[in-house]
Amino acid sequence: MAGLGRNDVDVAELYDPFSFEIIRQLEAFRFCAEGEAAGFVLDGHISPDATLPVTTDGGVLSFSHPGASAQMLQRVIRAAQQLRGTCATNQVSGAEVAFVSNGGAGALFSDVLLLGADHVVAVGKSRSVGGSRANADASSSTPANALSSVPSPPATSATAATSGSEVGEAVISDPQAWLAPQPQGIAPTMTNPVSAPLWEGAAAGELRYQFCEACEIPVMDPQPACPQCLVQSLAWRISEGLGEIESYSVVWRAPLPRLEVPYAPAIVRLDEGYSMLTNITGCQVGDLAVGKRVTVHFAEIDGATLPYFAPSEHTDQQR
Ligand SMILES: [Zn+2]
Repeated sequence: MAGLGRNDVDVAELYDPFSFEIIRQLEAFRFCAEGEAAGFVLDGHISPDATLPVTTDGGVLSFSHPGASAQMLQRVIRAAQQLRGTCATNQVSGAEVAFVSNGGAGALFSDVLLLGADHVVAVGKSRSVGGSRANADASSSTPANALSSVPSPPATSATAATSGSEVGEAVISDPQAWLAPQPQGIAPTMTNPVSAPLWEGAAAGELRYQFCEACEIPVMDPQPACPQCLVQSLAWRISEGLGEIESYSVVWRAPLPRLEVPYAPAIVRLDEGYSMLTNITGCQVGDLAVGKRVTVHFAEIDGATLPYFAPSEHTDQQR
């Protein structure tokens, strides 16, 4: 990237609206190896006079949370002050290169700037692509057998899954790239008495959802009470596992090094009338479309069973 490496960065103004973000980004941008950022911070390496001064004005956690766009401007201003030597506090002596990051949408994307003393050295941006109603696919549904296996890529399919890419590398966008479940590295499922039936159902190959008999409405995510009438006796039902893509995004730059890209977070609208956040797998990126009919399937990852969805014509072919 512009002939500069991480060791050339004198100060880093990082996206920090949540306390874990500094640690996550130090690892995601490879300033630290995975698992080592917490120790890096605890040992004082991000102080203004240390190895990598980070967020030298205390960041938005000590200022405000003005929204992602205003935050980025705030960091750029602070970085410029560092490079010009005009900071009133915590001036990094001799700073010549500053790294600035911004993020959003649950860390699905990041923008980065590499600033020199009097110019922008480089700009990087993660990439996501989304669908719109105008592209809705009119595929019809097929009666459910929601318990299909994970679809496999056809022999001719490109398999572009890679682990996290480097900052500033060219954006990848291949419509033939195959969307597969993450092989590992998903955070463990945090089961509680309210959500336990959902996860027990997934382990048994069933997509379960709650239902309020009084209001006759489905409820998802698992709740202790009906969000409409507050009755606490919600029933559990088994979903047919059929629905359509309501919204999706394709992630081409991994927010964590252990994740493989591309992957496609999506909101799926089930035929029973509820929506859920999931991932679309078992197809190529180019197969994604808002309105596309999808069928649930289940993937075992690090001891958890997660409900994913695949285009219905693909899961039908697997049967
Ligand atoms: Zn109710």
